[in-house]
Amino acid sequence: MLAGNARLKELIASLISKGREPHSLIITGEHGQGRKTAAKYISQALLCEQQSGTPCGRCLACKKIKNGTHPDVMFLKANENGNYQVDTVREIVSDAIVSPNEGRFKVYIIPDFDKSGITGEQAQNILLKLIEEPPEHTVIILTADSKEAFLSTIISRALALSVVPCSVQECAEYLGTLQKYSYGEIGDAVSAIGGNIGKCIEYLEKENIFFAVKYARDICKALTDRNEYVLLMTLTECDCKKGLLRQTLECISGIARDSAVISMGGSATGCDKEGAMVLSGRLGAAGSQKMYEVICNYIKKLDSNCSKTLTVNALCADLSVL
Ligand SMILES: [Zn+2]
Repeated sequence: MLAGNARLKELIASLISKGREPHSLIITGEHGQGRKTAAKYISQALLCEQQSGTPCGRCLACKKIKNGTHPDVMFLKANENGNYQVDTVREIVSDAIVSPNEGRFKVYIIPDFDKSGITGEQAQNILLKLIEEPPEHTVIILTADSKEAFLSTIISRALALSVVPCSVQECAEYLGTLQKYSYGEIGDAVSAIGGNIGKCIEYLEKENIFFAVKYARDICKALTDRNEYVLLMTLTECDCKKGLLRQTLECISGIARDSAVISMGGSATGCDKEGAMVLSGRLGAAGSQKMYEVICNYIKKLDSNCSKTLTVNALCADLSVL
């Protein structure tokens, strides 16, 4: 079930109750914030037997969508590189003409559309035909980090919605309903991550983000203690697993930003509020700002595939002189 996001739910309910169901939607938002869950929610709202605009969660259609077995809700899968095959997109266009199997609508969900670099524009041009003149029973939902991924011709014809992070309380309540984690674990997760449910679950399941937060806290402490040895060791350690260094740097950039904010009288929101407080005492506003810029620069370098070992050594040197 989609937690929070009351405005999105109200808008969908209002459109459906007026019989103005959207045929093309774009859902944007940060990773983990529930774009796919929102797409599922909208499919349920469209196909729920109660037709109230809000999914009842109990009828057969709602249940089938929840379990991923509804024949009229299609989740597209990209290949291992994140690309959608042009042929798969063509199949949607021809399949969309065929009436739904059991529901009022046929819903095609294409998640992470912006990750499909190679076929993105070509795929959009093929989809455009469908989006310009959709059959009465067809709904297409595309998800991405931001709207920038889409051609203006698509944006102008689609209803653009964004998923927003839940409050920490809404997130903790939702995690509690999963009946999988203790109160203590949930408290840890929301204090490190905030209201992003997807990322909190990754943290609780000890995926990369859990270690990224741990390493970022260690690095923050090493900077406060001016311990260059621990700094280099920790950076090297988090460099041993794919994607972990980048995630750790993102966490550290949040700590640096918090440190700058605290120096200017604001309050912290990142994964290490206490660490940021101590760090701000050492670096001050200007030093924290400089640290933030240094980290962001290295994230850019990582993204442009610079040699990682070089990056770690140079980053350590740059941070040590702050
Ligand atoms: Zn229902």
